[in-house]
Amino acid sequence: MRLFSLSVIAIACLSAGSLYSVDAVANDAKTLAKTAQASTDLPTSTPVAAAQTVTNKTPVETPVATAPQDVSPAANTQATEPAATVTTDATTVAPEPAPIPERANTFVNDAILPPSITWHGASESLMLSVDNEWATPFEQSNGIESPSYDATIAWLDKLAGESDKLQKVSLGKSPQGRDIWMYIASSEGINESARLKQNTKPTVLVQAGIHAGEIDGKDAGMMLLRDIIKGDKSTLLDKANLLFVPMFSVDAHERSGEFNRVNQRGPVNMGWRTTANNLNLNRDYAKADTLEMQHMLRAINVWQPDLYIDVHVTDGIDYQYDVTFGYNLAQGLSPASYRWLENSYRPAVEAALTEQGHIPGPLIFAVDNADITKGMSLWNPSPRFSNGYGDARHLPTILIENHSLKPFKQRVLGTYVMLEQTLKTVGEQATKLKSAIQEDKYRASPLITLTWKSAPLAKGWDFKGIDYQLEKSPISGTEVVRWNGQPKLYPNLPVIAETVPDIKVTRPSAYYIPAQWTQVIDRLNIHGIRMTRLTKPTELKLQQYKLSNPVFNTKDFEGHQTVKAESELTKVSTTLPAGTIKISTDQPLGDLAVLLLEPQSPDSLLQWGFFNPIFTRTEYIEDYAVEPLAAKMLKDDPKLQAEFDKALTNAEFAADPEARLRWFYERSPYYDNRYLKYPVYRSR
Ligand SMILES: [Zn+2]
Repeated sequence: MRLFSLSVIAIACLSAGSLYSVDAVANDAKTLAKTAQASTDLPTSTPVAAAQTVTNKTPVETPVATAPQDVSPAANTQATEPAATVTTDATTVAPEPAPIPERANTFVNDAILPPSITWHGASESLMLSVDNEWATPFEQSNGIESPSYDATIAWLDKLAGESDKLQKVSLGKSPQGRDIWMYIASSEGINESARLKQNTKPTVLVQAGIHAGEIDGKDAGMMLLRDIIKGDKSTLLDKANLLFVPMFSVDAHERSGEFNRVNQRGPVNMGWRTTANNLNLNRDYAKADTLEMQHMLRAINVWQPDLYIDVHVTDGIDYQYDVTFGYNLAQGLSPASYRWLENSYRPAVEAALTEQGHIPGPLIFAVDNADITKGMSLWNPSPRFSNGYGDARHLPTILIENHSLKPFKQRVLGTYVMLEQTLKTVGEQATKLKSAIQEDKYRASPLITLTWKSAPLAKGWDFKGIDYQLEKSPISGTEVVRWNGQPKLYPNLPVIAETVPDIKVTRPSAYYIPAQWTQVIDRLNIHGIRMTRLTKPTELKLQQYKLSNPVFNTKDFEGHQTVKAESELTKVSTTLPAGTIKISTDQPLGDLAVLLLEPQSPDSLLQWGFFNPIFTRTEYIEDYAVEPLAAKMLKDDPKLQAEFDKALTNAEFAADPEARLRWFYERSPYYDNRYLKYPVYRSR
C-alpha cells in the first residue's frame, strides 16, 4: 500500500523503473547479502532474539543523544565497504541489457532489495508438511508461492466439500467476468445473510488482495480455514463467524508475474496493484466507481460484519516489525470503536504475535524515508481508504500492512496468527465490540471534521528500526539509503499525528438532492444510505452553498477530473419539486452522508467531479442587449446607481467594459440562477 508521502513515491518510482541493469545490481546485492549473512548468521535467528531483548527492556537505557549521529554515513564502517563496491560495479556494468532472472527457490527481487533478516518463529509450526493431503499450495511450495485464482477457488471448494461449516457466495462478477467469491465459515453452516444475523455472534470480514500483489491474507486465510474445518480449531466458530474474501481484486490477481511488486519479497508470482481498468480499489470506497467496490459495499450492507480487516503489504522504509496494523485515530468519527481497538483488541493481537515469534507494530510512515530521526507520522484517512471508510460508517476497520521486505512465509504466518487471535478476541468480547459500534452509530456529532492538521504526539515511539547509511550514488547523483539489516532501536522517536481538526462543518438535519443527479443518488444508494423522495412539491427554508474559484486538477486521478472550490453557505427559500431525494443525517450512515456531500470534504462527490457540469456557464447575453438592460435597471432602481458608482471606484473594474456589463447581467433576472450553486441543499 502506498500513501501520501512524496518521498515514498520518489523511492518507488526510482526502484520500479528499469533504470539500471538488474544483473549488475544482482551481483552487487550478492556482495551485500554475504556481508549481511556474515553478521547475522552466527547464532540462528540472532536478529529476532536481539529485537525481543530490546522489546522487553523498558527504555531505561536511553542512548537518545547518540541515535541521530549513528545514522551518519560513516557510523557503520562494516557495511560501508561493500556498499561502496555496489556503486562502482553498477557504473561499469550498467549498460548491459538486463537478462530475465531464472525462477528459483528465492525471489527475483532479493537481488536488489536490502539484506533480509533470517527469521524463525513458533508460528512456523502452523505449516503442514509439503506432502500432507491438506497442505495449501503455499505450504506445498515451502512458503514461497501463492496459487492462481482457479487453483485458490478449487482448493477452497474442496475444503468446503468436507464440511457444511464452510459455504460460499459470489459477491458479483468483476469487469473481466470473474466471480468475487466470499467464503462463510460458521458453526451453523450459514449461507445467507439473514441467518447470519440471527445467530447473533460477531462477524469478522477478512478481505485479501484489494491490491492483488499484496496477497498474504489469502494464503493465511486458507490455512486458518483448513485448521478450522479439518484441524483442531473449529471452536473458533463457537463465538464468531468468519467471512473470507480470498481475492478482492480478482482480475488484477490474474495479471500475475515476478516483476509486479519490486519492493516485496514474494510470493514468486504476484498480482497487480490496480484493477484491469487501472483503478486503485483502496481509493474507491467513497466514490465507488468499480464493479468490484460496488459488490463489496453491497456485501457489507447485506452481511453487516462487526469487524472489517483489509490485508495489505507496505513498503517504504526498513524496520524490524513484520506485521503492522492500524485504524483511524481517536479523534475520528468512531471513537468508541477506536477505544475498543486500541485498548482491547491491539494488546491481545500483539501478545499473540509476539508469542509466535513475530514483531507487531503500529502503521508506520516515515516523515522522511532518508532520515528516520525526523520521526513517524500517523494519518486519519478520509473515506476513499478502507480504514477511513470504516471510521465514517462506524464499522471498525483494521488496515494490516505487512512489511514488504520480510519474506512471504513470515508475512503469511504473521497474518494467520493475527486472524486467529482476531476470531478469539472478537468472540470473547462480542458484547463490548457490538456496543462500541452502536455507540458510534448513534453518536450524531453536531460538528463533523472534514480535514485534519498534524501535531506532535506527547510521547514518541521506541522504534524498532534497522540501521542504514546514506551513500552518494554516481547513478542518481544524490544520496541513496543503504539498509544494512542490523536491528537498531530509536528511543522516543517523534511522532506527528493528524489529531487537530482543520475544516469543520455543522451537521445538517438533512440534505436534499434534485432527482436529476442520478449518478450521485445511485452511489449514495450503493453505500446503503437511507433516503426518501418528496412525493409533492415542498416549500422549504434551506441552506445552499455558493461556489467560487473552482480549481480543476489538470491530471487524471483515478478516472476523474477532481475539483476544489471555495464555498459560502447562503440562506434560500425554495420549492423543491416532487421526486427530490431527502437524506436525513439521523441514521447510522449519517456521518458518511456528510463526508460525501459537503463540498469541503476531500472525498465529497463534488470534489471527485460528480458535479462538474455546474461549473460550466451555458447562457450568455449580447452586449447590445445588456447595455439597454443596464440603463433600464439604473433608471428603475436609484440604489443600484449608488452601488455601481461604488464599484467604479475600483480602477480595474472601471477600465473593463465586459466586467461592467457583466455586473448588470448578474443582477438581472436573465442571469442563470443555478450557475455556481451547489445543487445539494442542507436543512439546519
Ligand atoms: Zn496495499
